[in-house]
Amino acid sequence: STPDSCPRVCVVGGGPAGFYTAQHLLKIHPAVQVDIYERLPIPFGLVRFGVAPDHPEVKNVINTFTQTGQHERCSFHGNVSVGKDVSVEELQKAYHAVVLSYGADGNRSLGIPGENLPGVYSAKDFVGWYNGLPCNKDLQPDLSSETAVVLGQGNVALDVARILLSPLDILKKTDITVQSLEALAASKVRRVLIVGRRGPLQVACTIKEVREMVSLPGTRPDMRAEEFKGIAESLKDVPRPRKRLTELMLKAVQGSPAGSGTASRLWGFRFLRSPVEVLPTPDLTRAAGIRLGINRLEGSGEGAWAVATGETEDIECGVVVNSIGYKSLPIDPAVPFDPRKAIIPNTMGRVEQAAGLYCSGWVKRGPTGVIGTTMNDSFATAQSLIQDMGTGVLDISTVKPGSQAITPLLQKRGVNPVSFSDWEKIDSEETRRGKAAGKPREKLLEVEEMLKTAHS
Ligand code: FAD
Repeated sequence: STPDSCPRVCVVGGGPAGFYTAQHLLKIHPAVQVDIYERLPIPFGLVRFGVAPDHPEVKNVINTFTQTGQHERCSFHGNVSVGKDVSVEELQKAYHAVVLSYGADGNRSLGIPGENLPGVYSAKDFVGWYNGLPCNKDLQPDLSSETAVVLGQGNVALDVARILLSPLDILKKTDITVQSLEALAASKVRRVLIVGRRGPLQVACTIKEVREMVSLPGTRPDMRAEEFKGIAESLKDVPRPRKRLTELMLKAVQGSPAGSGTASRLWGFRFLRSPVEVLPTPDLTRAAGIRLGINRLEGSGEGAWAVATGETEDIECGVVVNSIGYKSLPIDPAVPFDPRKAIIPNTMGRVEQAAGLYCSGWVKRGPTGVIGTTMNDSFATAQSLIQDMGTGVLDISTVKPGSQAITPLLQKRGVNPVSFSDWEKIDSEETRRGKAAGKPREKLLEVEEMLKTAHS
């Protein structure tokens, strides 16, 4: 059949940014057709593979995304890796506009000696492991030592700390994978230290995550009172959310030292410390500790920066999780990329120097912010795009074939896309398996198995 003359937009990436962009395009334009191309056979990005299993309420956004996935003017094409299976140029020929919403697939490296030793994991891989991301399913982190050090003090770092210390009774009712549950059951990790280069007034996590640590059954805080010297006094000038967060940490300091209480598992922040070197075992085969440089702060408030004093402190630990941040990567030479900021350079979601290209989500503004932040910036991108259609900046006068041109290309290349209803088959299979185990779902871990279930 010949394609009709409606405007056709494709979105690259089926995470929150992709779904929210599609949702808003469909809402504000009565005729636009939206196709979402996603590398994995399953949708929802970090809502499935990032958000912690014990945060099921956060995953409720999936209900909204599902309405979009089932929308008559939207179609989902999973198992399609853009930049590899199909190029952005090919997409641009087939669509009036292409929105890049492919997130942040890399991890910022520490750049220190020993970083590649066994026992050192990126938070991205670790989180992917317990959340069943196919490429991380075989991580098998070595949890045979007592202390784990998490580098970074954002919400992801706290997720990792919480999962390492959570009672199994809590975890086994979640959608955490059965493999990671078994590994955590055998884990010897009893103490998790969450290390940041600046002070208590600069931590990047939010109060919800700290509160969860404070009330985590079977654990108690292990903080250092000296790191909070003068903090209580400086609180009167601090914005309210920061003040409440700091007061909560101060309470945890009072619950320390680790000598008090009976809980056997400990967690604590360590401030003004930057990683200098991962220390190996004597036979150099794996991580045995970490050397931290001691910093002092210059300036004040949110903008204060850390300056090395030259002194160091060593902490014995067999697990180091690098949680200093995710990082977007370029996927196609046709798309401008700013390697320094690791984002696609854009103005209000319009990719600079590239007519017809747009971006949203983490690849647009960097890998920070919650799903709500991603929603707002995706709506803004959709707004820019529809505005450009109206003003003629985006030419929609020619007829474009959309997926009618792309699907045969993919077929020729041996790629078998997964539709939204195919995904729903995977979803029911996972839910069925989960039910048997008293969990909301048991995730399929193999791409092969996902495809088999989808195309059954
Ligand atoms: P992503 O969610 O990463 O989605 C990008 C999608 O693009 C992925 O599905 C990916 O597979 C796909 N893709 C990548 N490359 C290609 C390609 N070449 N071709 C096709 N598709 C591709 N926010 C909260 O509000 N609450 C939380 O509790 C919370 N917890 C978090 C925990 C972790 C560990 C992390 C990392 C983040 C968390 N967030 C949380 C933040 C939230 O996940 C992000 O704001 C949001 O997912 C960013 O959306 P995105 O679509 O830009 O990226």
